[in-house]
Amino acid sequence: MPMNVRPVLALNERINHIRMTTARIVNNEILPFERLLAGRAEPGEGPTAAEARARVRAEVVEAGLWAPHLPPEYGGAGLTFLEHAYMNEILAYSGIAARLFGVVAPNSGNQQILLRYGTEAQKQRWLVPLTEGRLESGFSMTEPESAGSDPRAIRTTARRDGDFWVINGHKWFTSNGKRADFLIVMCRTEDPTGPAERNGKMTQMIVPTNTPGLKIVRGIEVWGQDSDHCEIRYDDVRVPVENQLGTVGSGHEAAQHRLGAGRVYHCMNSIGHMWRAFDLMVERATMREVHGGLLETKQFVQGFIADSYIDIQAARLMTIACAEKMDGGGDARTDISAIKVFVPACFERVVDRAIQVWGAAGVSGDLPLWAMAQGARTLRLADGPDEVHRILIAKNVLGQVHGGENWSFD
Ligand SMILES: Cc1cc2nc3c(=O)[nH]c(=O)nc-3n(C[C@H](O)[C@H](O)[C@H](O)COP(=O)(O)OP(=O)(O)OC[C@H]3O[C@@H](n4cnc5c(N)ncnc54)[C@H](O)[C@@H]3O)c2cc1C
Repeated sequence: MPMNVRPVLALNERINHIRMTTARIVNNEILPFERLLAGRAEPGEGPTAAEARARVRAEVVEAGLWAPHLPPEYGGAGLTFLEHAYMNEILAYSGIAARLFGVVAPNSGNQQILLRYGTEAQKQRWLVPLTEGRLESGFSMTEPESAGSDPRAIRTTARRDGDFWVINGHKWFTSNGKRADFLIVMCRTEDPTGPAERNGKMTQMIVPTNTPGLKIVRGIEVWGQDSDHCEIRYDDVRVPVENQLGTVGSGHEAAQHRLGAGRVYHCMNSIGHMWRAFDLMVERATMREVHGGLLETKQFVQGFIADSYIDIQAARLMTIACAEKMDGGGDARTDISAIKVFVPACFERVVDRAIQVWGAAGVSGDLPLWAMAQGARTLRLADGPDEVHRILIAKNVLGQVHGGENWSFD
């Protein structure tokens, strides 16, 4: 059955139009051809996966929704933050739709960094081809020898040598590493000849993957499968100073900016995935007969339906409240941390119930639930693990209380 999307009364006409158009493309052009589009169909007559993807992409461009997170002058659809957030919950009903709409991680986060911190020359050289699908990219921050949950612990250095930065370090879990044409690498800058304040500051560098000294050691197995999350060594990798992104020392702020909006988008994506898992679970409950009755007549299963409904609505409304606060220019740091903990936990529960109701089929390749279960679990540690966000929430609340004010839920 198709995803059932209706206009939301509280939303303006444009956001409703974007949601309905996205739903039309997902329902008509993506869901019936998901295996083909994912490259998992048996070879036979009819279009190839590449041809099918090109057809959907043309439809998305025609609808004015390609690269929703970018302005038109750099090849995007120019959606506002809220429009994009509301679009994501529809888009993510299919796990492969993001790529077909030109808004796939890690490229999308890198595009936003390039947009905000890049010079015009960097935008033309890296951002435009990335948006047009002529280049691929990765974001290289996490290191095996230091805690990824503490960005101050980064050890990779960029030492200034004349008109070059020379990068040395060891990273891992750089997603898209093998496909990437360039990486945005988080470094600790050292400039013995420059002003003292340049030393020890975090700065991001654009590093083409064919630069001598950059070695992809391996794609790390994730959940027992080969992956494109790569371990990478940087040994005396020289990049011209023009490849520095933003000012020296802006790296941490740039990463926070990338992650802040990104967390809302990720949560809206998780809601789209949950919506699909929920529909699949309810569908199975209305069809499968066990022990003399349909699953839907069993109270355990009715409980699953109710609990998943509650999880999804709570996660959705919390994320929308956070997005609206950000959009209105409010301080949403506590809300962002709260959704980053709460939504993946709901996602895990909702998918787990759907798998349970489907029995063996739930963990099979015939359904998307296995991938959702792994994705939901991974979200609890990527982009800041649960514990770090809980600590931040408590710190903000206690900071305000010690400053003389109780917390205000607004
Ligand atoms: C599939 C996948 C894709 C990824 N893609 C990328 C990518 O493209 N680029 C990139 O740079 N990174 C990427 N990462 C890495 C990810 O961002 C890090 O794994 C994450 O930031 C956590 O860092 P860490 O693994 O070093 O864990 P650590 O920092 O070592 O933390 C380990 C655990 O310690 C606990 N912990 C941490 N701090 C505290 C605390 N203060 N109090 C109590 N407990 C604490 C948490 O339970 C945490 O999970 C990816 C990871 C995965 C799994």
